[in-house]
Amino acid sequence: MIIDSHMHIGREELLTPDMVQFLKQKNIWNDIRQKISPEGVIANLDRCEINRGVVFPLTFMPPNGEWQKLNDMTASYIRSYPDRLIGFAIINPDKIQDSLRELNRCQVELGFKGLKIHPSLQECFCNSDTLFPIYQYCQDHNFPVLFHTGASLPSHSDKYSHPILLDDVAVKFPELKIIVAHMGRPYYQDTALLLRKHKNVYADICANEGRVGGTLLLENALAWIKIYADGVKRLLFSSDYPVFDPLIGLNALNTIRHERTLPNSNIPIITDSEYEAITSLNLLHIIND
Ligand SMILES: [Zn+2]
Repeated sequence: MIIDSHMHIGREELLTPDMVQFLKQKNIWNDIRQKISPEGVIANLDRCEINRGVVFPLTFMPPNGEWQKLNDMTASYIRSYPDRLIGFAIINPDKIQDSLRELNRCQVELGFKGLKIHPSLQECFCNSDTLFPIYQYCQDHNFPVLFHTGASLPSHSDKYSHPILLDDVAVKFPELKIIVAHMGRPYYQDTALLLRKHKNVYADICANEGRVGGTLLLENALAWIKIYADGVKRLLFSSDYPVFDPLIGLNALNTIRHERTLPNSNIPIITDSEYEAITSLNLLHIIND
């Protein structure tokens, strides 16, 4: 079983102008409506021979201000494909009481399995104490939180998304399951610190295709995390669909698994049991499935 633990969905009219510009710049605007539709997501999972996907919106603060509607949208996807899609909720960091009610609705009524926070797009520091009631809810209700970390859109500041800020969250909420998206790209050493220090911190691997050098960027990130933290066993396969193609990511992971060892050694960067953890077991454990 292969699970892609980071996929974006949406409707064209709910995308913010900066997101539209970003998608055009990345040359993935063509057929975007189809790609991020329920059928498009499933067709791409099938094409890549991936069994299940974790889905949440491309944008977090929609132009019409109706952020709860985005959770209704996610719910409609997982209702259509309950065996294939796993929903993650979004909140509004400027409206904590409303967000707490919404989290409860998402978990109890809509059947979501976690929360996604994008500190850069939502312009909030993940370690701000205004968010602590949210983390308390998630810790108490076994609801994992996936945080965007590292580089983001050119239109938003990345000061909000530095992975080291999550150290503060993990110290204060030691039982909260935290997923560091993109392994903190390019702050892999900070992510290695988090994985070494905190047993409930995981990281997803997507969006680490280098500008040059094939799989070298991903390999280097994995090597840092393995050497410093022995943390490869707590990574999650993910694609950041539709921004990146899941098949390219999966092929890169397999190339590294079969052909790459740590520098100056014969230790594989990814063992077979780590591969199984990365591609399905960790996510199933995190969401209690
Ligand atoms: Zn993403």
